[in-house]
Amino acid sequence: MVDLQPTPKQQQVRELIHQFAAHAVRPISLQADRDHKIPDEFLLRLAAMRGAMSSGEVPAEYGGEGGGLGASKDARGRSQQNRFTLLSAEEMAWGDGSVLLSLPGPGLGGPPIQFMGTPEQKKRFFSIFQDQEKLHYGAYGLTEPGAGSDVSAIATTCRKDGKTWVLNGRKCFITNGAKADWVVIFATVDRVLGRAGQRAFVVEKGTPGFSVGKIEEKMGLRASETAELVLDDVRLPEENLLGGEAHYAGKEGFMGAMKTFDSSRPVVGALAVGIARAAWEATRDFVRENYVLARPIPRYAQLATLLADGARMIDAARLLCWRAGWMADEGIPNAKEASMAKAYAAKMAMKVCADAVQVLGAHGLERSAFVEKWYRDIKVFDIFEGTAQIQRIVISKRILKDPPSF
Ligand SMILES: Cc1cc2nc3c(=O)[nH]c(=O)nc-3n(C[C@H](O)[C@H](O)[C@H](O)COP(=O)(O)OP(=O)(O)OC[C@H]3O[C@@H](n4cnc5c(N)ncnc54)[C@H](O)[C@@H]3O)c2cc1C
Repeated sequence: MVDLQPTPKQQQVRELIHQFAAHAVRPISLQADRDHKIPDEFLLRLAAMRGAMSSGEVPAEYGGEGGGLGASKDARGRSQQNRFTLLSAEEMAWGDGSVLLSLPGPGLGGPPIQFMGTPEQKKRFFSIFQDQEKLHYGAYGLTEPGAGSDVSAIATTCRKDGKTWVLNGRKCFITNGAKADWVVIFATVDRVLGRAGQRAFVVEKGTPGFSVGKIEEKMGLRASETAELVLDDVRLPEENLLGGEAHYAGKEGFMGAMKTFDSSRPVVGALAVGIARAAWEATRDFVRENYVLARPIPRYAQLATLLADGARMIDAARLLCWRAGWMADEGIPNAKEASMAKAYAAKMAMKVCADAVQVLGAHGLERSAFVEKWYRDIKVFDIFEGTAQIQRIVISKRILKDPPSF
């Protein structure tokens, strides 16, 4: 049976994260957006808090926190790590979406190392996060100027030269790409082979030929760094090929890239829920203050209807995310449910944020108003980690192959 009930301990930790988001994150949010940067001192503070709220992206055996304070086990002794990650992600995004994406740690680079890495590679690349005196990041480099949704089109090449791999190409829109200690880079031995030709490498900062291009100027999530990365005859030892050569006998390189999304898409959905909740609360307060209490005019009933719509859609999105997280905790394949959660949550949150600006009227457009920022921030949630259209492809493929019984 689906069990979505947070444990008392999880609720307690969730409340702690909420207090932090309200009293530490929100106060820096607007300035960080203007500066396109979150202060390093603040990020170091976040690094020290990873133990409480982390998704367990650094496994305990490699010096990590193993799932955060709230990742307790359920009555049957099963991990609730994915479910807890969703709770903490929603609370932090309620404070600010960019801050959450800038949380020091392996980020999206963590799952491919977890799924494909050898024990030596996991030790090597995860152990740097034990050091909390400095900011450490991992990143995930899949997207290219000519390959976003169509992952099989990646053109970054890798070729073997003796015992060395040589990489050439260009990656774009890589979250935390410029500050990352290492980036998981997907490349191809031969584009004709499609997905079977793909390999994943870990490229470390400072490797000759590996450089940062431009830092992307974005409409939203402006305090989160998104970078272009250039690979110009980058030479890597065999040990940097994730999982070793045998791992790529089939479509493993591509599958490793895709598996990342099964665990990350529900989290992206939860982030969208957090931002939607923030915008909905601002709308509710504005309606209460300006209409319900000040001008209880019947024609403003439409605004109350908007609030009702927002509340039910936020609830529905959260439940979809929690279901996908529960399936991941249970080890049940969840690609379809992860896509459903992400696609629904992103669209829902775009509507709730747009409604917030609409209801606040001109006040909603002021740069000092959070809703203006949330309106800009939310759009990307329908684009990264697979666009709205790509989620529908994932869902429709699966429902046609294995029709669900409702
Ligand atoms: C803030 C931000 C952070 C990001 N972080 C990362 C990161 O860390 N690592 C990384 O690798 N990438 C990252 N990305 C890139 C992101 O994953 C891509 O932008 C996304 O996959 C879409 O690719 P694209 O932008 O090239 O759009 P395209 O793939 O070119 O799509 C353009 C449009 O065509 C539609 N489309 C494409 N194919 C189809 C189809 N088959 N059927 C119907 N419609 C289709 C799309 O839905 C979209 O509307 C990030 C992007 C942003 C904006």
